[in-house]
Amino acid sequence: MEKAVQVCVKSTKTWKKNTETQTVISSLEVKSVDTQCGGEKHDSYNREEKLKHWTYDLLRDEVLRSKEEIIRWCMDEGLIAKSRLCCHCDLPMKLVKCEDRSDKYKWECRKSVNGKRHKVEISIRKGSWFEKSNMTLEEVLKFTYWWCRDVRQEEIRHELNIAAHTAVDWDSFCRETCEVTLMEREHPIGGPGKIVQIDESKFGKRKYHRGHRVEGQWVFGGIEEESRRSFMVAVEKRDESTLLPIIERHIAKGSIIVSDCWKAYINLEKHGYEHRLVNHSKEFVNKDGDHTNKIEGHWRQAKCKMPSFGVRKIAFSSYLAEFLWRYEHKGKDLFSTFLWDVKKIYCEF
Ligand SMILES: [Zn+2]
Repeated sequence: MEKAVQVCVKSTKTWKKNTETQTVISSLEVKSVDTQCGGEKHDSYNREEKLKHWTYDLLRDEVLRSKEEIIRWCMDEGLIAKSRLCCHCDLPMKLVKCEDRSDKYKWECRKSVNGKRHKVEISIRKGSWFEKSNMTLEEVLKFTYWWCRDVRQEEIRHELNIAAHTAVDWDSFCRETCEVTLMEREHPIGGPGKIVQIDESKFGKRKYHRGHRVEGQWVFGGIEEESRRSFMVAVEKRDESTLLPIIERHIAKGSIIVSDCWKAYINLEKHGYEHRLVNHSKEFVNKDGDHTNKIEGHWRQAKCKMPSFGVRKIAFSSYLAEFLWRYEHKGKDLFSTFLWDVKKIYCEF
């Protein structure tokens, strides 16, 4: 979380510094920064209450009406910068119309310093989710919306008429956003008196893949018994020195951990946890009623959601992250939730 906090603090500073420069973008009539998912005022606890219920019609009618409207909305939402200072003279830049960019707007400064005129221009996308994409802002927003709605990549590609590699890239950017969001989560799962089920499971040990046996990937995970908060981490080994640091990172001290009798867990009590065992060779539920049914169900769902083609090791964690992110936010508006997460990562302006 430290990184995200730093980035947001930086963004807050920039914003305060630039409030007086708002007039330069009056042509777009940008409203106040206090919008439903923009700005630094919100924390992760109350954001759900403020999430809008997005439908495609709403997005099209409210946001995608024109290039100007898209820019105005993105600024309002904190997805792109509302103002910029010139790197040459440190004065506010002007948002000007231009024909040579798909956005049709850019930041520009043509002021004179000591009688010498300079020309500095930057993209309105700099430091944002939209940077480094050849797609228009409209296309990126549509892609993001459909991705959040879990529309198949092939369908999105068809609707946007984009190249296969562009769709693959954006699919992976979206998954990476989930991955970073989960990595930087402020609060570990569990807590004093809360039950967390842990387990390990092997993914992808399916048959043969083009004549080669797919070895599979061990994954270690945990889930709160009473909520949808969970974690999964791909691991190379299942020994104590691998799993204990993961437990300490993801599960709050004082939690009640329920697991099977795997030897890597024997010292959990020494590390600030209450440990309850279920001996799977003898029982599914121990005499006190503890079980690991929820984490086992979690594995089944996760395995169904992993792509059926062989996922390269490097992408494996991001597919897990997408599954966990969707699982945790089930029932919420995922487009709003996703944009909220995007802003925590891409707000270098
Ligand atoms: Zn300047």
